[in-house]
Amino acid sequence: MSDAELVLRSTRVITPEGTRPASVVVAGGTITAVLPHDADVPPGARLEDFGDDVLLPGLVDTHVHVNDPGRTEWEGFWTATRAAAAGGITTLVDMPLNSLPPTTTVGNLRTKQDVARDKAHIDVGFWGGALPGNVKDLRPLHEAGVLGFKAFLSPSGVEEFPHLTQEELARSLAEIASFDGLLVVHAEDPRHLAAAPQQGGPKYADFLASRPHHAEDTAVAALIERARRLDARVHVLHLSSGDALPLIAAARADGVRITVETCPHYLTLTAEEVPDGASEFKCCPPIREAANQDLLWQALADGTIDCVVTDHSPSTADLKTDDFATAWGGISGLQLSLSAVWTEARRRGHGLDDVVRWMSAHTARLVGLDARKGAVAPGRDADFAVLAPEETFTVDPAALHHRNRVTAYAGRTLHGVVRSTWLRGERIAADGEFTAPRGRLLTRTH
Ligand SMILES: [Zn+2]
Repeated sequence: MSDAELVLRSTRVITPEGTRPASVVVAGGTITAVLPHDADVPPGARLEDFGDDVLLPGLVDTHVHVNDPGRTEWEGFWTATRAAAAGGITTLVDMPLNSLPPTTTVGNLRTKQDVARDKAHIDVGFWGGALPGNVKDLRPLHEAGVLGFKAFLSPSGVEEFPHLTQEELARSLAEIASFDGLLVVHAEDPRHLAAAPQQGGPKYADFLASRPHHAEDTAVAALIERARRLDARVHVLHLSSGDALPLIAAARADGVRITVETCPHYLTLTAEEVPDGASEFKCCPPIREAANQDLLWQALADGTIDCVVTDHSPSTADLKTDDFATAWGGISGLQLSLSAVWTEARRRGHGLDDVVRWMSAHTARLVGLDARKGAVAPGRDADFAVLAPEETFTVDPAALHHRNRVTAYAGRTLHGVVRSTWLRGERIAADGEFTAPRGRLLTRTH
């Protein structure tokens, strides 16, 4: 082990054992020790004392649409990873769709890795895609290092990434289970979507009626039965419907290997407050009513929901028209996720350690990166965010590093200012400034 080169000190360090005053020793980009606050600084090591600002593990956001290459006017690795770093995120996992090509073959994965390599300000991993007809590509993608596979059960929004029928889902999932891989699923039942009123236009209530909660509940129920029969590992993406939670809790109690995520926008925004025509709030499944949001928070508290991830899915401003039926569906929130979730979490009596569990520890574990990521503990990468949790700021879209500055959070006052972000012991972002990209491309085995 190389000699200590850096000591990061704070009166509030969030560790797996709790929040406490500590001095975190770093060597070669790795945490080597977590010592008492007043521990001697080893000879030759540099001390960074953050006072009372909180030192927490860098967030691991496992649901980001970077769209690069192919739709780089929507986002890209350079802008997405800078925005993420500004928001305290040190690892993101890129979704397999909305880029061209989608990540559905090993060749396409290589294309994406080549594009990302020199632009990644934080560490980047990749999901593969499970499409109709690419069952033969799944094992090679797994062996090439994707962290799991994404599938849709209803139309994805882009034609190059078609959804799976129930029969195709069964085939893909059986193949993924054969190597004990993970399938992550956009769970809305297309039959229920087709049967719902499709009014279109600028009224949010009409959009909400077009994506009813039972479309989610039915798809989740079917997924549970597939996973149960195959003893497969599945994960429900961006759960919005609180009514699906009892099914999930019961399945888990039965030993079904299912995990669940939700997103900052479902936890912090409500249908009641979406102005008509404001399609920056459009995503699928949709932001639902305040009473539903309470169910999501209860499920975070009781552990039924494991993870909170952004589902950052921007587009250019011109695609965010005032017609909810045709506007691009996706919420842009990468840079704001930590502050947005913390703001509502603290209001509801949760601690910052809870937020870290949902947004770093559990997400790292979901994708098998928990030997290196997701905790301030010896042996983990020295990835950190330094946060002033009591400080507030008002969201100014002009201050965002996303490629497109359309956001549902504009004008909101949020708690939690990210002072700096650290990757493997290097300060990579502070005060709107960034170092040259030094992120690595992560694979399942490295
Ligand atoms: Zn998504």
